[in-house]
Amino acid sequence: MELLVGKKALVTGGTSGIGLEIAKVFAENGADVMIFGTNAQRAEHAIREIEKVRKAGSQEVSSELVNVACCKEVEEALLRLFSRWDHLDILVNNAGITRDNLLMKMSEEEWDEVLAVNLKSLFNTCRIVSRQMVKAKAGKIINISSVVGLTGNAGQVNYAASKSGMIGFSKALAHEISRKGICVNCIAPGFIDTPMTATLSDKVKQELAEKIPTKRLGTSRDIAHAALFLASHLSDYVTGQVLAVDGGMVLC
Ligand code: NAD
Repeated sequence: MELLVGKKALVTGGTSGIGLEIAKVFAENGADVMIFGTNAQRAEHAIREIEKVRKAGSQEVSSELVNVACCKEVEEALLRLFSRWDHLDILVNNAGITRDNLLMKMSEEEWDEVLAVNLKSLFNTCRIVSRQMVKAKAGKIINISSVVGLTGNAGQVNYAASKSGMIGFSKALAHEISRKGICVNCIAPGFIDTPMTATLSDKVKQELAEKIPTKRLGTSRDIAHAALFLASHLSDYVTGQVLAVDGGMVLC
């Protein structure tokens, strides 16, 4: 079953890891896909990967270099998007970074950068996209938070605050616009094997896996399948929720 035929989707941070996999799964399910990223080479590679799996040659696949932390850049990119597409069905706010440090050693830059990319980006994209979705009386907004936003984690006060903030933002926005036919939800991934976690040694990954009830790290595809559910009509009565996709990590 191709769940997204005729749908138009924007995935921020779609040039690698979880975002790229979400873009691929959306394209496999018939959607036109645009990705936002910050690296031209990675964006070109991502487009080739997405083109390989799209269902029909007529499906559009494109990318823009956009810093999601910058309100003006996002506004201009969305203006271009809406001059090309008259509407957007699905927005996935996936772009994210870490700048880990213990609070006592954390710099103001480490705090500001993480909050800007992970949280302010939702203000930047959703403010514009939600106006258009309200007009269309339809839409799906999916924000990629983290289990760390639910549980906290040492060395990540900036990241945890941004990811909790995404949950609060999403619930508040769901209160505002669900009556207009728009669903706003979060996914809280657990420990997922992506470039973001690639710096950890195999030994550390093994130790982490041992603490997860399913005894394995998650894959980007695990997250993309949850995003597909939240992007499709199968979740039309689901809004303001946080779907943990973490192999049971939040049980620990
Ligand atoms: P990744 O580093 O592979 O991907 C991050 C993406 O965000 C990249 O495409 C990057 O270009 C983009 N990006 C970074 N800064 C940006 C900016 N200023 N503007 C536009 N794009 C920007 O990491 P990932 O693991 O795929 O992470 C994707 C999301 O999932 C992030 O929000 C992350 O916090 C979240 N997450 C990841 C894990 C994990 O274990 N990997 C766990 C929980 C949540």
